[in-house]
Amino acid sequence: MSLKKGIIGVDLGATNINSLLMSEDGEVLARDFRPSLGYQGKEKVLSQIFSSIKTLQKEGKKSGVSSFLGIGVGSPGPLSVSKGIIYHSPNIPGWENVPLVDILQKEFNLAVFLENDANAAALGEWWRGAGKGINYLFLLTLGTGIGGGIIIDGNVYHGAWDVGAELGHMVIKEGGMSCGCGARGCLEAYASATGVVKRTISAIKHNHKTIITRLIQNDLNNLTCELVFKAAKQGDELALWIVEETGRYLGIGVGSLINILNPQIVILAGGMIKAGDILLKQVKKYAMLNSLKASREKVEIVPAKLGENSGAIGAVATVLKRKGII
Ligand SMILES: [Zn+2]
Repeated sequence: MSLKKGIIGVDLGATNINSLLMSEDGEVLARDFRPSLGYQGKEKVLSQIFSSIKTLQKEGKKSGVSSFLGIGVGSPGPLSVSKGIIYHSPNIPGWENVPLVDILQKEFNLAVFLENDANAAALGEWWRGAGKGINYLFLLTLGTGIGGGIIIDGNVYHGAWDVGAELGHMVIKEGGMSCGCGARGCLEAYASATGVVKRTISAIKHNHKTIITRLIQNDLNNLTCELVFKAAKQGDELALWIVEETGRYLGIGVGSLINILNPQIVILAGGMIKAGDILLKQVKKYAMLNSLKASREKVEIVPAKLGENSGAIGAVATVLKRKGII
């Protein structure tokens, strides 16, 4: 058996933990996927993380991994990358100021690095995905919320207090829809999956005719963003209008970011990109309408390539980056 070095990347989500064991050159050697069990509290989540890592260590030994370079963790914020502390998680009772890096270092005696989940996804796509070989990019994760990650000159941009790149909380409409962050008019309030559902419900309540009412059996609780996109693909007028509007809001945000950052590419990730071209086309159209000629001319707006593994691959990349290997 060869002497392979392994790196473990953990994508810690509110619902699931997705972990990968990879080699230095980016080969996936093993995967572990399990529920986070956040509702059972902090200790349970920690034991799920431990079990996930231990499973990958065992798998690694079977496939010829002789040593582990470290563990990377991508997690929702707010968190401190430099202190290795996750300050708070709304979905895990008792998850306050958790020194996760210290905890994992003590348990596994390995180098441990923490990164914000959307930053990790951006770094993952930069290392192995849609952003390979590209030094200036930003990524939006379009899901329940909207996360952001910025890569500048091949490095993750963290800001002064590690809380930068919160691209979803860019205000696109003064005094607009209320956002989970407490403010109004954020991009996330309009263009996240949650925002899409809210806007669709409001349109249905205003008696717009749509096949969606049949798809949800007249129960608005059944409405999901996925269903809206499905109805749009079937040519439903209201759904098509909602998709265009979503693309317009995203395009306003993306266009401004293109002006500010002058990226080579913009990557769209997260569950909403399953909608495919129907959404991407609109985002491209409105991003072009809302950016300056000099910066928009050569920019490409593309879907992420790594799917649900971008966070875990990014967590592995975080280890390699902080160790100066990539
Ligand atoms: Zn907000």
